[in-house]
Amino acid sequence: QAVLKSTTKHPYPDWEPGAPVPYAALCETFSLIELTTKRLIIMEHCSLFLRQVMRLTPDDLLPTVLLMINKLAPDYAGIELGIGESLIMKAIGDSTGRQMSVVKQDQKEIGDLGLVAVKSRATQPTMFKPKPLTIRGVHKALMDIATVAGQGAQGRKVDLIKRLLSSSDATNRSKVDITKDKGGPSEAKFIVRFLEGKLRLGLAEKTVLVSLAQAVIAYEAEKKGKVPSISDIEKAESILKTVYSELPSYDVIIPAMMEYGIMELREHCKLRPGVPLKPMLAKPTKAITEVLDRFEGQTFTCEYKYDGERAQIHYVAKDSKEQLSQSLPSAGKQAGRGVASIFSRNSEDLSKKYPDILAKLHTWVKEDTSSFVLDCESVAWDVTEKKVLPFQQLMTRKKKDVKVEDVKVKVCVFAFDLLYLNGKAVVEKPLRERRELLHKSFQPVEGEFAFATSMDGQELDEIQSFLDESVKASCEGLMVKMLDGTESGYEPSKRSRNWLKIKKDYLSGIGDSLDLVVVGAYHGKGKRTGSYGSFLLACYNPSSDTYETVCNIGTGFSEAMLDELHKTLSEIVIDRPKPFYAHSSGSQHQPDVWLEPRYVWEVKTADLTLSPRYKAGMHEVDPAGDKGISLRFPRFIKVRDDKKPAEATSSRQVAEMYRKQESVTKSKGPAVDDDF
Ligand code: ATP
Repeated sequence: QAVLKSTTKHPYPDWEPGAPVPYAALCETFSLIELTTKRLIIMEHCSLFLRQVMRLTPDDLLPTVLLMINKLAPDYAGIELGIGESLIMKAIGDSTGRQMSVVKQDQKEIGDLGLVAVKSRATQPTMFKPKPLTIRGVHKALMDIATVAGQGAQGRKVDLIKRLLSSSDATNRSKVDITKDKGGPSEAKFIVRFLEGKLRLGLAEKTVLVSLAQAVIAYEAEKKGKVPSISDIEKAESILKTVYSELPSYDVIIPAMMEYGIMELREHCKLRPGVPLKPMLAKPTKAITEVLDRFEGQTFTCEYKYDGERAQIHYVAKDSKEQLSQSLPSAGKQAGRGVASIFSRNSEDLSKKYPDILAKLHTWVKEDTSSFVLDCESVAWDVTEKKVLPFQQLMTRKKKDVKVEDVKVKVCVFAFDLLYLNGKAVVEKPLRERRELLHKSFQPVEGEFAFATSMDGQELDEIQSFLDESVKASCEGLMVKMLDGTESGYEPSKRSRNWLKIKKDYLSGIGDSLDLVVVGAYHGKGKRTGSYGSFLLACYNPSSDTYETVCNIGTGFSEAMLDELHKTLSEIVIDRPKPFYAHSSGSQHQPDVWLEPRYVWEVKTADLTLSPRYKAGMHEVDPAGDKGISLRFPRFIKVRDDKKPAEATSSRQVAEMYRKQESVTKSKGPAVDDDF
């Protein structure tokens, strides 16, 4: 427990107190982490380094944490690097005077652009020693790269990457066999990997969060000449986890933590309008009886599960003392008597997609409601028939810069939860109370705003007929939620056992559809010649940060769709599988082309089976062997634009579904964080 020993130091030599933290110190930490797969050791390296930053240059703590989690800003700021492999290869070639073809060949052989950069730098004569990079400098340079826009943006991005790579230290390892060596603490390697969006260190975001809590509690104790107790460490971890789940913004949390101390953090960092929180999610079930078993002896409520897009609406009235967080790029849009923002399931800003919701908001917010955060589903609405339309209709809406007068597909907002009201978070209140507040503070307006239809009956046949009604009303099925007691509080970012979903079409199937990442494709034959005929899909393993293959899919696509997919996917073809793809090595199992991990598809399956061809959940179901889980008779349902690859169904979830096939589990245990 290094964190307990107040004298333990990070191995990198100290820098001047107050001086910018050298980027090399972070790379040294990364390369120590790279040498292990043990989470505790990873955490130790992380927290020792963070503690050193707190001691010497606390101003750099924020960019340090951001670079550790491979982010430049909170998700809701909408800042993405959006740089493909070929752009990075061009920058590596240009900055080291090597031909693109040589760089490509290296990438083919080595398969890790980070190491290709190291190799390229190692063979380049050094004309001058560049000024050492600093963490804040690298963060700023990466931010500049991400925010380049307009004409010629790609070219300017390459120039900026070139400049950054030229000032980086590649650590001359020319004597080392780069294909076997991990490349050491080279700055160029980690810059390139950051640009690719994968540091490949097995450093999960949650590990960084816990390490940060450990670092700060040790640092605070050290200032008093003490060592923190185990219970203090645990308390610090729990505080930081809770605070982050309600206010997922290191930009706000880190300065407050340094100013007030970790134990006081909850007082200063609370859920606030303008900063989207990660939504609470549901566990799948495949029978009403499973729901009854789970909630035995407790009250629950059933709601329609609308098939639209999740929308978290944040609002502050102009005349209230509060302000919508100004850290947003859009900083909220004018809406009725106030300012509002709408966020997706991913915390992306949807305000530009739904100006029609913002324009009508004043009709459904009651006079005395001064601020709120609402959890809702925005659903396509048939104005003539006055009913819900299928999800596919919603997908035809433009995503950006929508003008109210051009809106063809109208939406109705179905509100199912209230997280914040009139200056106070209400997440800890029981659902029954939150629902009462919701009904008191808003008024339904036909075709524009409604409360999710609910039913509090607890009997099997009541639930069955409510499920039938929901299907008739074009919904996906039911959400069943704990209604009373502390367990019925809103749990941000958790896939919780206190929310269960029953989907109409999986009552006899495996329990849920899966959201999978497209990682490869096969050329079509016969009628499908000229486009791709089938695809290789993978689930995501957050603990190893890898994509594990799970099936080939060729069913559920129309001809037109295949043509369209051929166009979009051709743009993200890569020469070889990413090193973080886990797939069988058998030559007969390789797809014709490999793809960047970018698109998530929803897929249904008849059942799950074990196969040596795929690797999904292998460590869970067949750790000693070589069989992963695979889908039988998979069928394409839709593209999930609202999910990023790292939000695809996880290997653990696939393994859970596989185990559940045999018996309906009644597994108890805490909810798991879904979004880490
Ligand atoms: P799915 O593909 O089933 O939407 P998911 O992983 O996106 O899966 P889940 O938590 O599993 O999300 O299912 C809940 C989703 O259902 C929410 O994200 C929300 O968009 C939608 N939804 C529709 N009606 C409700 C409701 N009454 N309560 C909660 N969520 C609802």
